[in-house]
Amino acid sequence: MKKGLQRMIADIEREVEYTRSMIGRDRLDPRVMSVMSKVPRDKFVPQELKLAAFDNGPLPIGHGQTISQPYIVALMTDLLELEPDHTVLEIGTGSGYQTAVLSLLCKQVYTVEVVSELSESAAALLRQLNYNNIETRIGNGYEGWSEHAPYDGIIVTAAATHIPRALIDQLKPGGRMVIPVGLPYSYQELMLVEKDAQGETRTRSILGVAFVPLVEKRTPESNGHSVH
Ligand code: SAH
Repeated sequence: MKKGLQRMIADIEREVEYTRSMIGRDRLDPRVMSVMSKVPRDKFVPQELKLAAFDNGPLPIGHGQTISQPYIVALMTDLLELEPDHTVLEIGTGSGYQTAVLSLLCKQVYTVEVVSELSESAAALLRQLNYNNIETRIGNGYEGWSEHAPYDGIIVTAAATHIPRALIDQLKPGGRMVIPVGLPYSYQELMLVEKDAQGETRTRSILGVAFVPLVEKRTPESNGHSVH
């Protein structure tokens, strides 16, 4: 493993330990940690920030957006409890880093990004790095992506003011969704939504977090189109 990645993994493990009483576990799934040690985060950050690529913090990726903190990426992925035959929906492709992590743990990832430039550059990068089970789309993920629903897992990487109804509807019975919920640029909580076999949902808060806001209004772009 590269030195930088090694340090990043150690930092994630330490933060998991610090937060274990809140997140309810002492360590994350070894499959998740193994994937975190494989995806080259340095490829997903802007050229001038390469030196900080393996720091355990978020970094700007342009358009007022950020690549999420490695610990948060690992935790959210762990909470989804992915299996190799699962299909996942991600809202907020951003750099494509979280998308790449998901893609190594499940069968297929569908990812929606509202900023077309980010979607296009993430799609090109993911293709170049040979992640082949990912389909990207430009659009407003507030409405989900009904064409491929229902999903075993849904992950939202921007903060919503409430849990969007469409996303609950697009979750399979037995499925799990992780989503930060709260006020824009203020207090937010990472929520885990579990849908049982009968279709009943149970929601619980895992941790206080800070995400960029989810665009919730419908925009002209919301009809979107696939680019990957
Ligand atoms: N997982 C990404 C996080 C990027 S930040 C990464 O680690 O790189 C969150 C992203 O969500 C931003 O790129 C933002 O443009 C996008 N976003 C915000 N609201 C959205 C919406 N309604 N639909 C799709 N993408 C959205």
